[in-house]
Order: sequence, then C-alpha cells, then structure tokens
Amino acid sequence: MTEFVTRFAPSPTGLLHLGHAASAWHVWEAARRAGGRVLLRIEDIDLGRCRPEFTDAILEDLAWLGLAWEEPLRVQSNHFDDYDRVVRRLTEMGLTYRCFRSRTQIAQEQAEAGLPPGAPFKGSPLSPSEEARQLEAGRPYTWRLSLSACREYLGDVYDTLSFSLCSSDGGMDTMKARPDLHGDINLTRKDSPTAYHVASTHDDALQGITHVIRGEDLADAAHMHVLIQALMGWSQPIYTHHPLVLGPDGKKLAKRFASQSLASLRAEGLTPDQVRRLAGV
Ligand code: GLU
Repeated sequence: MTEFVTRFAPSPTGLLHLGHAASAWHVWEAARRAGGRVLLRIEDIDLGRCRPEFTDAILEDLAWLGLAWEEPLRVQSNHFDDYDRVVRRLTEMGLTYRCFRSRTQIAQEQAEAGLPPGAPFKGSPLSPSEEARQLEAGRPYTWRLSLSACREYLGDVYDTLSFSLCSSDGGMDTMKARPDLHGDINLTRKDSPTAYHVASTHDDALQGITHVIRGEDLADAAHMHVLIQALMGWSQPIYTHHPLVLGPDGKKLAKRFASQSLASLRAEGLTPDQVRRLAGV
C-alpha cells in the first residue's frame, strides 16, 4: 500500500464549529479507509487573533469526537524560524521584493486601475534608493513573491505546473496550476512573521504529508502551493476539497455562530454521533 499521511490543521482563532467537525471527519475517515496516519497541526501564526485557550478547546473537542492524532503536535508559532528560512531562501533566489503599500493603498490603486475589489496584486520592487529611504524611515513592509520572477526562474516548468485533485468519488483529475489567481502573495505579514501559504507548504513538506484534505473554501490555495513546492523542491501531495457545511443563511458557517460551536452542542447534551449527523457527514 502506498503511504498515506494526512493532517488536520485548524487555526485557533475561535471555538470549533460543525464545519470543522465535518472537516475533521473527512480527514480521519480518508486516513482510516487508506490505513494511513493523521497529524494534527495548530496553525496559530496570526498572533493577533489566535489564543492558547482556543488551542486547548480544539484538543478537547477533537478528543470528545473520538479522534486521535499522533504526538508531538506541531504548533506553528513555535517554528517561526523555519518559515523565515523559506522566505530568505526565496529572497536569495531573487524571487521576492519588499512591499511597503498598505491594504487601503492597494485597494485604492486597484480601483483606480479599474480592477475589481480583491483582484490579485501585482507589484514590483522599489528602486534601491527609494527602498533605502522607506527602510530608513522605519516604514513597515511585507515580503512578496514576485510571480514574474518565478516565471523567469522556472522557465517552461512554470506553465506546466499542475496538481492531482481527488474528487469525493475517488476519481483523480490533473489540474493546471494557476498561481496568477493569487498574484504576488505576501510571504510575511506586517502583524506576523509568516503567512499561511509559506507555513502551510513548509509544514506539509516537513511532515511528509501525502494527502491534503480540506474544505472547498481553500480550493484555490493549491494553485499557489504547487508553485512554492516547485520552487523549494518539495514533493507535492494529492489534494481533496470536501464540501462545506452551510449555515442557515446558506453561507459557510463562521466561528461567530457560537450556537453551532462543538462546545455548546456538547453542553446541550448532543452526542458525537448526533453532531456528525447534524454536520451531514
Ligand atoms: N488553518 C487553516 C484553517 O483553519 C486550514 C489550512 C489547511 O488545511 O491548509 O482554515
């Protein structure tokens, strides 16, 4: 049997809700069917929003659901040096630039250019003298990945990047990767030493993840992740995107629907099985 290592990677920004429970079941069920392993990873890189008490609550909820994971847990906030090394490596390869623009500034510039809100960002490095001026003035910045530099660096490989997508019925498709959906992503953030795409791909590679199973809301992430994997020489997992549990408004459940939190469902006396049925898994 080929090796099957997957992971569940929640961010402790709030209490887990039905949607997380559904996601966890998809992950554990796939591993069970394949006779594989599940690793649990706490993605707490957003230092402003993540809290240790939510990590504790995640562990309690998963244990209550009857899901077991391998120790030791990987807690991303203990490994900022690892992610920093990735950004430095990409910088040494000539693939990054410092971006001093604020979000508001970017939104304004994009609107002026007639681009829709949230359009992928495409920038370029400042001139050395302008950059030196900004640094001297102590202006905060993020490191961005330059897609045009990546394209040049990888040559023909850039346009042939693809990934394997496993559908819910087990069928396998090859998807052409479209990093341009993301634009020049932030590799670091002004309020955090790393960004999701860096920490997630780094840890998937480090932990030998062969299968990434996550919600459809993160379906686009694979388009960027395979680019980072190609640049860093990391192996590529197979991707599966499971359907989301929708709220009463037909939209993705958000953590703010506290009534749907696993802790409150448990307090109401529901059993893990009843929760599973409620999540439609
Ligand atoms: N930490 C992410 C979340 O909670 C999941 C990331 C992933 O599975 O790649 O939405």
